[in-house]
Amino acid sequence: LFEPVDPGVAKELARKVIQLADRYKERTGITPAFMEVCGSHTMALARTGIKQILQGHVRLVSGPGCPVCVTDQKQIDAMIEVAESENRIVCTFGDMMRVPGSKRSLLSAKTDGRDVRIVYSPLDAVRIAEENPDKEVIFLGVGFETTVPVLAAAIQLAAKKNVGNFSMWATTKLVQPVLRELLTVKKVKINGFLLPGHVSIVLGEKAYRFLIDEFRMPGVISGFEPVEMLSAIYKLLEIITDNRPAIVNNYKSVVRPEGNQAAQKIMYEFFEPCDEAWRGMGVIPQSGLDVRGKYSRFNAKKKFNVEVGEPKKTLCRCGDMICGIASPEECILFGKACTPLHPIGPCMVSTEGSCAAHYAYMRKD
Ligand code: SF4
Repeated sequence: LFEPVDPGVAKELARKVIQLADRYKERTGITPAFMEVCGSHTMALARTGIKQILQGHVRLVSGPGCPVCVTDQKQIDAMIEVAESENRIVCTFGDMMRVPGSKRSLLSAKTDGRDVRIVYSPLDAVRIAEENPDKEVIFLGVGFETTVPVLAAAIQLAAKKNVGNFSMWATTKLVQPVLRELLTVKKVKINGFLLPGHVSIVLGEKAYRFLIDEFRMPGVISGFEPVEMLSAIYKLLEIITDNRPAIVNNYKSVVRPEGNQAAQKIMYEFFEPCDEAWRGMGVIPQSGLDVRGKYSRFNAKKKFNVEVGEPKKTLCRCGDMICGIASPEECILFGKACTPLHPIGPCMVSTEGSCAAHYAYMRKD
């Protein structure tokens, strides 16, 4: 099951993880449960077979770290509404195209003739705006701290070149507030966090100290190779076995204690904290970043007056998936009405979604 680097080492580590987890269970009667915060970990754990091998020994639950999965339906509806008018071009990342809004997705709006385009970088959207001076170009910006610096660079570029027909509809998310929400409001039942490698490059190890200070909740920052993930899980097991909560940086080659301060600087130069709605979780105070007031001419929410209603409730349980409350098989639509070809919720659309990962690598039929 294991891939690229050193399968022998990974297998030996998996054996040790199982041994330590079983000892913990024998002593406490509890199967240790860890939440992988990051969607890339969700996919990597399923793809490499680690989730399957550890089943029954360690409970690995998915968290809210997939930017597509946590984008509120109303934001998709708003973008479709924006795209309805003539002389507008809506740009976004490819993963966002198939995410269902209340009635349809951006892809279906495009099929109906609206000008919706996939870009690989928000900087491309600035270029499209320059090439189309008679049109408004709106970029739907989603993502966590990993992506926000790039979004900021797009606003910086638009400001420098004075591209007045470019704006951004930002619906970005921050990791610290959502971890706090999971522990206080959602009261997730876990023994520790497998902390995201990519986001931590920007945030730094110190950003997680509050988990210990406020909640005595351990966390280990991990990379994405099998050996890295297994060793992070092993460290989490050691921490809970010794009952000495700690934050461990197991990805030292790229994550520094203070993070990437240049990235943090540009992020907060162009964005400011705001209350943000998370799909299935509701509004979490100060959990997102919106375009800073000084640059409001590039803020699509200020530029366009868009009103969308509350989306209807559906049977999709993506909200429960991202809070670690349910597993994909517990959704009655999984693999039946909802498949990667006909996704009903974002967790099946996204390449980092827990339902997509489960469908690709773990479904029973
Ligand atoms: Fe939503 Fe589909 Fe996942 Fe069910 S299986 S929670 S409908 S994405």
